[in-house]
Amino acid sequence: MGSSLNHGLTAKRLEGKVAIITGGASGIGASTARLFHLHGAKVVIADIQDELGHALCQDLGPEVTYAHCDVTNEDHVRSTVDRVVAKHGTLDIMFNNAGFLGKPARTILDVEKGDFEKVLSINLVGPFLGAKHAARVMVPARKGSILFTASVASAICVTPIHAYTSSKHGVVGLAKSLGVELGQFGIRVNCISPYGVGTPLMKTGTGLEMDEVEEAADRAANLKGVVLKAEDIAHAALYLASDEAKYISGLNLIVDGGYSTVNPSLG
Ligand code: NAD
Repeated sequence: MGSSLNHGLTAKRLEGKVAIITGGASGIGASTARLFHLHGAKVVIADIQDELGHALCQDLGPEVTYAHCDVTNEDHVRSTVDRVVAKHGTLDIMFNNAGFLGKPARTILDVEKGDFEKVLSINLVGPFLGAKHAARVMVPARKGSILFTASVASAICVTPIHAYTSSKHGVVGLAKSLGVELGQFGIRVNCISPYGVGTPLMKTGTGLEMDEVEEAADRAANLKGVVLKAEDIAHAALYLASDEAKYISGLNLIVDGGYSTVNPSLG
């Protein structure tokens, strides 16, 4: 009677699974590493912030390890995946989460080509490489979950961050195209699109303190009285990574308190 339902409250939802989380040393990635670990996954944090990454591993224990991995460097991504498979025998979850906001620019005339390319490289080429090397392992295994952190900027235009908005729209396109291609192998591909979470990325990109980012986001969201935190995004990732989402692929799960559905100032 309801066996798949009544175990849900206490079960570890990722028991026995192996996950790589890029950008896992900080913010949303770090929260997700904690939550995946709590739910029984072996987690590999892939990031360029070595000190932060090692500190998080120390905190969480031996089931969580760190790999220095610049997501824009194919050799790094390839060898991170290879080392994970050599150690754990499999790769079940590839969470392409690392990201960069870039410099805000008032108009397109203020955007330098190199700055635009840097954002695209981290936010779009990086996830492409992560997905490609995950697929190399997941296709023969005929299973896996590939996740991307997109953004509310994948659904609406967020000015004045042209490159970021372009990159996040691109990630959703990548996920859709991979969902079509990889579904035949039992591989699910989904995006999560966060909104204003106080993280170093938002602090650097906006010049606001982290709690100010969250307060501003809360004011603009349609949903009131709730402050979005990194762990809320981690819970969305947990769901999409788990077998509970076994029939969900090609989804862009927007976690924004309804902000992108309608702009009240226009209504
Ligand atoms: P964060 O700054 O806390 O984390 C970003 C992580 O990405 C850092 O650990 C950083 O070292 C890592 N990173 C950056 N460049 C990298 C590279 N080349 N190789 C490997 N790692 C790299 O910020 P966050 O807010 O947790 O960002 C996580 C993701 O969430 C990003 O993709 C971001 O675009 C997305 N996002 C965040 C928000 C928000 O409100 N915080 C909203 C929408 C989308």
